[in-house]
Amino acid sequence: LDLEAYWLAKELRECVGLLSPPLEALDATRKPEIAAHRLLPFAIPPYISMMQPGPALNSFCREYGWPIWVKSPYYEARRVTDWQELNTVASVLRETWSTHDLFLQAHISGNEESLAFAAHQGELLSCIWMKKKDITIEGKTWAGRVSLPPPEIADSLSQVLRYLRWTGGGELEFVRDVRDQLWLIEWNPRFPAWIYGGTIAGYNLPADLLSKYCGVEPRPPSQSTLEFVRVVLEIPARSDFPLLETSEPSVSFSLTPKHPSGMPLLARRLRGVVLPPQNVHESKFADTPASMIKDLNNARLDDLKTPVPLFLPSVANSLMKRISELSTRLSSGRVKTLIAYSIKTNPDVRLLNLARLHGLMVEAISADELSTVLRMGFSAETVVSNGPGKAWPTACSERVLASFCDSLEELERAIILARRGRAPAKIIGVRIKPPNVRSRFGVRLDTSREFARLTNFVRMIPSDLEFGVHFHIASSALGIPAWWGVFDSTLNWALALENIAKKRIACLDLGGGWFPEDLLNSDHTEAHLREAIQRTERALQGLSRVILEPGKALSQPTFAVIMKVLEIRRNGEDISEIVVDGSVGEVNQSQYYPHTPLAFDSKLRKWQGLGRGRSRILGRLCMENDILVEDVHLPTTLCVGEFIAFCDSGAYDRSMAYSFGRGT
Ligand SMILES: *Cc1c(COP(=O)(O)O)cnc(C)c1O
Repeated sequence: LDLEAYWLAKELRECVGLLSPPLEALDATRKPEIAAHRLLPFAIPPYISMMQPGPALNSFCREYGWPIWVKSPYYEARRVTDWQELNTVASVLRETWSTHDLFLQAHISGNEESLAFAAHQGELLSCIWMKKKDITIEGKTWAGRVSLPPPEIADSLSQVLRYLRWTGGGELEFVRDVRDQLWLIEWNPRFPAWIYGGTIAGYNLPADLLSKYCGVEPRPPSQSTLEFVRVVLEIPARSDFPLLETSEPSVSFSLTPKHPSGMPLLARRLRGVVLPPQNVHESKFADTPASMIKDLNNARLDDLKTPVPLFLPSVANSLMKRISELSTRLSSGRVKTLIAYSIKTNPDVRLLNLARLHGLMVEAISADELSTVLRMGFSAETVVSNGPGKAWPTACSERVLASFCDSLEELERAIILARRGRAPAKIIGVRIKPPNVRSRFGVRLDTSREFARLTNFVRMIPSDLEFGVHFHIASSALGIPAWWGVFDSTLNWALALENIAKKRIACLDLGGGWFPEDLLNSDHTEAHLREAIQRTERALQGLSRVILEPGKALSQPTFAVIMKVLEIRRNGEDISEIVVDGSVGEVNQSQYYPHTPLAFDSKLRKWQGLGRGRSRILGRLCMENDILVEDVHLPTTLCVGEFIAFCDSGAYDRSMAYSFGRGT
């Protein structure tokens, strides 16, 4: 087992007959960096230590997209598909492997291959290549095809093993991507479980190793075939050694059922002895923007009745200003880039007023939202209408700039109204559901019949009205690379629609769903948007407007919920958890993305960032899920009655806040 190799290397250092790698070799091949890979022609997928602050981890996930791998440094890797699952899996792995030292790694799609070898005192004795032909849900090999590795790989491996003075078996696991690049995902200090499959193909690596050590020639294996499959085999159990009862996993959490090897127990035993001790790097603070601190410092804390959402005016102003400048920079050609702030994300009048002051448009999903902004002084030409319930509760007769229909039924109604001179908008558009994306919204394009029905309706749009296409998929949830994939696909569908329906597309609406820093702090996004808009401009000859509908990108950082500490619970000197007077009622998004928590030091009279650590912040509600943060570092000097600020709670935390446990 992987951990036994460490144990042996440490405890039996000087033992002559140890056919296992020395400690230095294990260190040089330790995950995630696998330092020794630099001498080999393989790349390592991008990774990040889970001791980094939450925002950095979340940003890593958006940058590389889902799925993401959560890996323990010793053994086990779990594929996760969203932030909530990531946190659940991480806490299970921390528990199982008794370590905080987990890491996240980008997923590489491709086929899995593997290289197994035997070496003695740095001399490569034999190696085989195996292409996995079937794998289990846990990613274990279930069938494979054995061959010899390409000579250049065998050569460089042999040099590296000499340098590492490797003794024993070993396995390198790879993913081969579509460009034929090999990515090294594991370096295991032992023979793989499928090693017997090698002998079926005529290569007995364990025999080669033993033979080198004791000088006895092994009987050569006879090659029967190059491919193997694994099977499950029932064997009789001895009646004098009856089996134990199984523990019921849902009742008592037991480590053994999933890891019958007992490795988790070994991890616990070896911690601090053989394995590195578990110090969480508590010094790593997330950067809190200066404007946030400035707004927080201006708040008169003693007057606040906590828990209370606190508006951060300079943060809000700076975001609105920057998005307005971005839209100007992106509007250099024939096509204007317009920003329509999503009202539902946070309809706070202070945000809406700032949006108007900075010349932004708004995006409304109900007649109520529409009348609110009209009353505030937005003109109807600066409103984009979206969603399945635009006319609710009572339709408004104002003609807005653009209305994107969520279904063919709605499109048909809009066309009928338009023919009677009561068009709901100057631009009649459709929201499309990009194929291969799960969404309840938009007109489906998955079959040719659906596409034909859509083109028929588009032909019927009166010629004095413009036509537009819209999609809205959150890149914050999908990941940025996949979002751009959806963009490209939508552009192709739009082109096809334009050609077949013979109706020029005048407007392309890209929806919202950006995480703030992805839209506003990233030169990379701006360059990508500029390139995409130019490409769209060339492809769609009649295009005059591109609309972006950010909601949370403009509102998420603009509020902090201020709370007070109700109770401090200690474990020795350290604080293990605190209870605050806030709850998931005020921060209902706490499980979906990381919020930056700050603590107010009442002696120094300043706000302090809280790094990653091992304490929890619990909400006041008597509800199991009312946990606001896990893995936070709390200063030992924190006192009851002091303030905690939950930043980044200005989007759905506000609009979807609920009152609970107040007796009304
Ligand atoms: C909610 C919504 C948005 C804004 O989404 P965010 O995730 O807040 O950026 C934009 N467009 C449409 C159609 C929406 O429904």
